[in-house]
This record gives sequence, structure tokens and C-alpha cells, in this order.
Amino acid sequence: MEFSIDYLWVLFGAFKVIIELFLLSSIIYLVLLFLKGTRGAPILAGFTIIGIFLTLIATLLKLEVVGWLIGQMWAFAALLILIIFQPEIRRAFAELGVRNTMLLKSKQKEKENIQILIDAIFFLADRKIGALIAVEREIGMRFLADSGVFVGAQMSKELLTTFFYPNTPLHDGGVILRRGVIHSAGCFFPLTQDMTLAKSLGTRHRAGVGVTEETDCVCIVISEETGTVSLAYRGRLARGLNRDRIERHLHNLLVKGKSSGLAGNVEKIKQAISEGDEGESI
Ligand code: ATP
Ligand code: MG
Repeated sequence: MEFSIDYLWVLFGAFKVIIELFLLSSIIYLVLLFLKGTRGAPILAGFTIIGIFLTLIATLLKLEVVGWLIGQMWAFAALLILIIFQPEIRRAFAELGVRNTMLLKSKQKEKENIQILIDAIFFLADRKIGALIAVEREIGMRFLADSGVFVGAQMSKELLTTFFYPNTPLHDGGVILRRGVIHSAGCFFPLTQDMTLAKSLGTRHRAGVGVTEETDCVCIVISEETGTVSLAYRGRLARGLNRDRIERHLHNLLVKGKSSGLAGNVEKIKQAISEGDEGESI
């Protein structure tokens, strides 16, 4: 009986050490994560290096006054950190509660926007109305938006399709979407110089591919001649896509790719576009 109680105590002690180590490493990890890329991080790194260096010298040479001063300095370090990182700390606390719900909400919103976009795409495709729609991602498209007309309206199927009706002032050129907003219309996109693109593809498709070489946007091209829907991304064109395929690509690029493992995803999608969809129809 005695033995088993001792045994339990040892086990409990080990468990406590594990929890302590876990908590400490989590705290250090979170602090490092928090400091990464902040303006104050290099200052803090500098202070820490100087502090450790002085502490070592003072201990080795037994410099009592310097040692005492450094002891006091460490006490002030906490205060110093609070002052240096005051804006970041305030922001972190402010974001703490909002962040997750915002992320969820924005994902939900993104899904709704994708549905609106797909409805608009196939409304136009069914009527063989040519269109060029770029969806902005991380890289800003302002320099391209300036070539068109600023719209700044909440996106809807009705408004989005209206821009491409033939013989209207803005139907030539591309529309730029930014976070659920029709940012501008009638924009001129750079033409790709890629000579491997099918000869049958004209300037609309070349502009659709070109814009994805300059930025990380996703560009939808609807052919006036055939009514087929294509999607360009990072200089590649997936042609003749149906609703399901478009939905899958847009979901991967705009919802999944946003918050997790962007790089890995991007490679996969690029591969899927070039292997699976290229030249599928038309
Ligand atoms: P479609 O299959 O619709 O005919 P296409 O690839 O054959 O497409 P064109 O027939 O040359 O292309 O389409 C011309 C239209 O493409 C123009 O009227 C204009 O609306 C659009 N367009 C052409 N060049 C650009 C550009 N650089 N930026 C934006 N839009 C462009
Ligand atoms: Mg043409």
C-alpha cells in the first residue's frame, strides 16, 4: 500500500513536470510567434543579447555592482517589453475574441460570393455573352483597376452580368472583384506572351492569362464565340469547365488557399489546371 502511494506521488511529480514543460514551451512559442515580423522584435533581440552578454561577464568576473545593476535591469525588462510592444499587445487582445468568428464568417461569406459568381458566369455563358472577370487575392490590382472605371458596389449576379452586355460602355475589358465587391469594370489586362496557347484563342483569353502572370488573381474568361468557360491562374488556362469544376477551383483558390497551406495548395491547383483541365474542350 505504502509503495503504491509513493509510486503515485512520483508519477504525479513527473506529470507535473511534463505539464510545466508543455506550458512553458507553449508560452515561448506563442511569444515568438507574436513577435515575428513586429517592429519591436529587433530591439528586443538586441536588448536580450546585450543582457545575456553582460550577465555572463558580470558572473564570470564577479563584478558586483554591474551584476546588481543587471539584476535590476531584468526587472525593468518586463516593463520595457510592455512599452515597446504596446500597440501589438493591444491589437492582440482586441483580436483575441473576434478573430476566429471573423475567420469563420469571412469563409462563409466567401462561399456565398463564389455562388453568386458562378451564377453570373453561367448566366453569361448560356447566352454566349463574352466576359472577363478577375478575382483579386493577395496581390493588389490597383494598377490594373485604374485603367477602367471605379464601381465599388456589392457584388450580385444581376450587376455583374450587366457589365458585359454588348454595346454598353463598359462591356469591353475586364471586371475586377475584390472581397465581394465589384471594384472596377472596363479594365485593360496585360496580354500574355505565351506562344503555346491555342491559336484559336483571341485577345480576351490572352488578357485573362496575362493578368494572372502579373498578379496572383484568379481570372474567369467566358467566350463570346463558343460560350465556354475557362479559368486562368498563375499563367495557366483551364478551358471548357463545367459548374462543378469551376466551383472546385474557386473554392480551392479562394476559400481553402486563403488561410491554410497556401503554397502547397497553389502547387496542387496549378498542377490540376495544367494536367486535368487544359484543352478539355473547345
Ligand atoms: P471570344 O472567345 O469571346 O471571342 P477571344 O479570346 O477570341 O474571345 P477576342 O475575340 O479577341 O477574344 O475578344 C475581344 C474582346 O476581348 C474585346 O472586345 C474586349 O472586350 C476583350 N479584350 C481584349 N483584349 C483585352 C484586354 N487586354 N483587356 C481586357 N479585355 C480585353
Ligand atoms: Mg474571338
